[in-house]
Amino acid sequence: MNQITLLVELQNLDTRSDENATLRAALETKLADASAVHSVRAALDSSEKNSAELKAKLRTLELETSGLADKLKQVNERLYSGRITNAKELAGLNQDEKMLQRRKGELEDQELALMEQIESADNVAKEKRAAYENIEAETNRRNEKERAELRELDASDIELARKRATIRAQLPTESLRVYDDLRRTKKGRAVAAIKASSCAACGYAVPSGLISRARVGTELVFCTNCERILAL
Ligand SMILES: [Zn+2]
Repeated sequence: MNQITLLVELQNLDTRSDENATLRAALETKLADASAVHSVRAALDSSEKNSAELKAKLRTLELETSGLADKLKQVNERLYSGRITNAKELAGLNQDEKMLQRRKGELEDQELALMEQIESADNVAKEKRAAYENIEAETNRRNEKERAELRELDASDIELARKRATIRAQLPTESLRVYDDLRRTKKGRAVAAIKASSCAACGYAVPSGLISRARVGTELVFCTNCERILAL
């Protein structure tokens, strides 16, 4: 193989390697982007917290109600025991009983309202949990696909590096230096094909003398416009 053919082959390998790097970066960005899962998780956490807070409130109310019921029982026992005969004391107990009954009624109304709130909060939390489990499973599936693609890229990169080393070993040091410099300064594309007597990279017409020299392939021939290595 003459060195132009080798350089064309090297350019192809390097271009594929560059494409792999672009794909790899995109896959890694996707893997890192778990923001959708996080926001759904945050919504679930807040709905479960809301539900738990309402239940704690209900327990407090229930304790208060049962305390009131005990007091009411004591008042009733005294009131109807027949032991209290003092009219003023009886009137006082009567008043206590009414007040406790009213308060108990209020608490029971609050309990009912809370139970309704808890039911709807539980429904919301259930929906949020289902949404979270869905997106989590989907993300895991997608990540699995991306990890598999990354493993394929790893294998491809190893193969490309092996082939590249074989080709570079056959090229003169000076040609490699020129090639590497052009790769660095010409957006990764050091070699340009001659297509219809023009440079395929910049479109500039290539003089016929240069085309003949490029065809021989023993020396490096450069595009007079973009300065890339020309290949047939
Ligand atoms: Zn050119």
